Amino acid sequence: MKNPPALEQLISALKVLPGVGPKTAQRMAFHLLQRDKQGADKLARALDMALTRLTHCQRCNTFSEAELCPICADEERRQDQLCIVEMPADLMMLEQAKCYEGLYFVLMGRISPLDHIGPKDLNLDKLLPRALDGKVSEVVIATNFTAEGEVTAHMLSELFKDRGLTLTRIARGMPVGGELEYVDLSTLAQAVYERRGVS
Ligand code: ZN
Repeated sequence: MKNPPALEQLISALKVLPGVGPKTAQRMAFHLLQRDKQGADKLARALDMALTRLTHCQRCNTFSEAELCPICADEERRQDQLCIVEMPADLMMLEQAKCYEGLYFVLMGRISPLDHIGPKDLNLDKLLPRALDGKVSEVVIATNFTAEGEVTAHMLSELFKDRGLTLTRIARGMPVGGELEYVDLSTLAQAVYERRGVS
């Protein structure tokens, strides 16, 4: 016997989530429908609202409900530093660590051949004019210390070579394989303070 079409559709929709295969998707669907209808309703609404309201900040590319996110709109922040991170979660971590007063750019990913993500998918067409606006003098590369993050950092250092900007990478105090999102805040702050020039 087959599942009813609406259930099949829900299961197949849940499979878009990373790491969720057919079995897990089915379990999630049963859970939502059987045990947590209220949660399911909340999830549906939140997803709908996020899709309608959220866009990307025109300057830093992070998720925002307005043209400019609150950080980019804040004129008190240093306009001469631009920190490049992989994901909005990394930006949030750096903000929590209170170690950086400049602005950001969020790539929304990292180079990952296995996932077919190359430089083209990292919004570089938006990043380059942003970094070359004439106000930015230092570009801080704060991608993760994973293999993919390092490849991305290397690509960025090539991109910004000979463009008259100071190029730095957050320091290696971060554990090897370390992702910003999971490092404690003081280690992260130290990595920013001890950032080094990229030759
Ligand atoms: Zn922004």
